[in-house]
Formats: sequence, structure tokens, C-alpha cells
Amino acid sequence: MGSSSLPAAAPLVDRFARRITYLRLSVIDRCDLRCTYCMPERQTFLPKSEVLSLEELYSLSRGFMARGVRKIRLTGGEPLMRRDMVELARALGRHLGSDLDELTLTTNGTHLASHADDLAQAGIRRVNISLDTLDPARFVRLARRDALEQVLEGIAAARAAGMAVKLNTVALKGENEGEIPELVAWAHGQGMEITLIEVMPLGAVEADRHDQFLRLSDLRAGLEQRWTLTPEQHRSGGPARYVRVAETGGRLGFITPLTGNFCDGCNRVRVTATGQLFACLGGAEQVDLRAALRSGNPEVMLDKALDEAMRIKPEKHHFAIRGAGEAPALARHMSMTGG
Ligand code: SAM
Ligand code: SF4
Repeated sequence: MGSSSLPAAAPLVDRFARRITYLRLSVIDRCDLRCTYCMPERQTFLPKSEVLSLEELYSLSRGFMARGVRKIRLTGGEPLMRRDMVELARALGRHLGSDLDELTLTTNGTHLASHADDLAQAGIRRVNISLDTLDPARFVRLARRDALEQVLEGIAAARAAGMAVKLNTVALKGENEGEIPELVAWAHGQGMEITLIEVMPLGAVEADRHDQFLRLSDLRAGLEQRWTLTPEQHRSGGPARYVRVAETGGRLGFITPLTGNFCDGCNRVRVTATGQLFACLGGAEQVDLRAALRSGNPEVMLDKALDEAMRIKPEKHHFAIRGAGEAPALARHMSMTGG
């Protein structure tokens, strides 16, 4: 798995003239937590043969880089549950500064403490860590596993390794909503950014999505009673919109898929651990990259599949929270595409 630069090939541009430069790659569907908004307690995971191998993940990433993708985020499931995760990060990290501008990671942090140094050395400079609460009892209720301490150790280790840590917090009605100011103040107090995420109706979970859903516009209005929030131009290349909190000095992001449309500037596609490309987080449009990779002519077939993805990428997502008792509009869980 060398590091030579690629010859120029046609960039990935969809029918709406959006250039795709960002790949979110799920490397595993398994997870050691069971966040109540993400997956059910009795989630069925895939047999290993279905999941892309290290070599396949690397070839696929190279195929994307050849078409102009400059940023790759590794995600899951829980990416650090893959034994060869550091090896993959090292292989991809060799392309930083030539074919790749940035390699990042989204993790729940439970296994980060032991890998942070290696990941930083591989070239990961920024990491998103999910943290919905600082309260141990609430953590157990939300993640259905007792792991807050490991996550906090993971955060500390990532910072000690020199990585910029951004926290991701899903805002949940009647659950962590009252704790959000404390979480934001805690993150900012340590120099970390934090982004609040509206719960998305992806896949069936035990809870009713209506009971979980908290409008971030309402939450923001509440925060404005307490703090001075000044909108910022800063964009991270993602869908978040940012404000600066005058009182804490920190940056706070909002991701509002349901109450604010963020599709105009979409620059990304998502690939699952089985190599299924989803052209939109909120849509069903999909292309099978694994079939291309496992064909007799992987490079040509992968290119064709990527062209097809550009043809089917929808203009906007179709999220909606359905009525109580109805099946979710999208059957797949967030753990398939990694957020
Ligand atoms: N396991 C890793 C983690 O938790 O960071 C990576 C994968 S996880 C699916 C990526 C992000 O998606 C996390 O920040 C998680 O909180 C968020 N997420 C999961 N299910 C969601 C849902 N239904 N709505 C909104 N965000 C969700
Ligand atoms: Fe696992 Fe991340 Fe989903 Fe939580 S949000 S269950 S940590 S994949």
C-alpha cells in the first residue's frame, strides 16, 4: 500500500453541479455501545465475510482519491473495534499532503485511550468523539453500557496526543436536554468544540422518535436566554452551523437535518462497511461498490459505480418523523453509514 500520487481523473460532480470531495467511510457495523437513538439492544451484526477487508477499504479509498476526494472520515459502528484500524489509518495517512488533505475519525471514544498516539502518528489531527452526557447514570441509560470513564479517558488521551477534539452530542428530549448548557461549558472550559445534533429517524429503535426528538431551534432559543451566541462564518466542510459563545469563548455547532435543510452545499457520500455507497444520508439511493471491488476489473468497475452514484445523488434528503407505531422512513440505522 504505497503513497505515490495519482494521475488526474474526472472529478466526481453530481447532477446539481455539487463536487464530491469528502468520503465518510464506515469500516465496521459492530459497536460496543447501544445508544438508544442509534440501534436496538438486540442488533444483528454482519458476518465478517460481508465486511470489506483492509485491502478493499484501501483500494476503495484510493479509487475515491483518484476522482478528487480530498477528505476521508473513518467511522462505524465503532471504528476502533476493528483490529486493523490503526493499520488502515497508517496506510491512508501516507497520502496526506499529496492526494489527501485530511484524514479524520468519528468514535465513541471507548477504545481511544490505547490508540490515540498511533492514530495521531498516522496523521489524524482531528477527532470527533460522541458524548451525550457527563452523568454516569444517564450514560448507562443512553448507551446501555457503563463506559463513561473510558470515554473520558479516551478524550484526554486524544488531547494529550495532540489531536483537536470535537464533541458530538445528540440532543434528546427529556433526557440530556437539561444538561446541554453544562456539557457545552465543560467542553469549552477545556478548549474543545462541541456540536449538537438533532436526532434523525434512521432505523427502528425501541423508543418512539417523537419522544426523542428535540427541536434544536428551541434548544438554541433557551441557550440564548443564558448566553450571547454570535453566528460565525466558520464551516468545517460539514452541515454544522456555528456560533461563538461569548461567555465561554468556545465554538458551538448545530446540525439540524429536520428543522434546517443543509443539502445545497453537500460535498460528500457515505460508504458502509460492506461497500454500499449511499448517495445521501437521508435517502435510499445506493450503489454496490463491493461488487465492483470483487469483480474481475475492479478499477474500471469502481469508476463506473462512482459515475452511477453521481447520476443518482438526490438534490435533498427526505427525512421525516413518521407517526407513532409506523415504520421509520429509512430502515437503515445510523451505525451503517456512520453519521
Ligand atoms: N460509534 C461512533 C460514534 O458514536 O461516534 C461512530 C458512529 S455513530 C453512528 C456517528 C454519530 O452518529 C454519533 O455522533 C452519534 O451520536 C450519531 N447518531 C447515531 N444515531 C443517530 C440518530 N438517529 N440521529 C442523530 N445522530 C445519530
Ligand atoms: Fe455505537 Fe456510535 Fe451508534 Fe452509539 S452512536 S450505538 S456508539 S455506533
